[in-house]
Amino acid sequence: MSAYRDEDPRIQGIKTKIRVVPNFPKPGIMFQDITTLLLDPKAFKDTIDLFVERYKGKNISVVAGIEARGFIFGPPIALAIGAKFVPLRKPRKLPGEVISEEYILEYGRDCLEMHVGAVEPGERALVVDDLIATGGTLCAAMNLLERVGAEVVECACLIELPGLQGRGRLNGKPLYVLVEYQ
Ligand code: AMP
Repeated sequence: MSAYRDEDPRIQGIKTKIRVVPNFPKPGIMFQDITTLLLDPKAFKDTIDLFVERYKGKNISVVAGIEARGFIFGPPIALAIGAKFVPLRKPRKLPGEVISEEYILEYGRDCLEMHVGAVEPGERALVVDDLIATGGTLCAAMNLLERVGAEVVECACLIELPGLQGRGRLNGKPLYVLVEYQ
């Protein structure tokens, strides 16, 4: 694990709390387990604080979190910057009218849905997830927001797997990550 922003001393504490589980959920995948980070209140708070420091005062009105681990990091960021939180969920979880985007995962194929009416045209949105691998998930999330006329300001993840070159799939949208896993 190498720090993306070594100059901030909090990064070191955060990266030591992320557990890497080889061959989960299938052979060849190095699973980045953030549940061990959540067990450490300081590391968890430092993670949220780093994002809040970056996004407060940026006129962001919606934080869109990707199921499931974007639901852990997105809401505290949204509350701290005074934005609403919008869950982007797996199929057939949201009860209202939805729009959908299919995407390809590092280990499978999936789909994200968003409630119609949750985000208004012209809103400034931040997309939050725990990790970017191939970038397909973030790409689908951005498509959902842009289809309803929102402006995606940035995507924010704790972890980037740079070897999978997911950044290149974000159509030039900025991506902010705290930690790279080589
Ligand atoms: P991708 O669409 O390929 O960028 O995959 C990102 C999504 O899949 C995120 O929601 C991650 O939580 C999950 N994911 C993909 N690869 C991993 C991994 N190696 N460790 C943990 N989560 C992963």
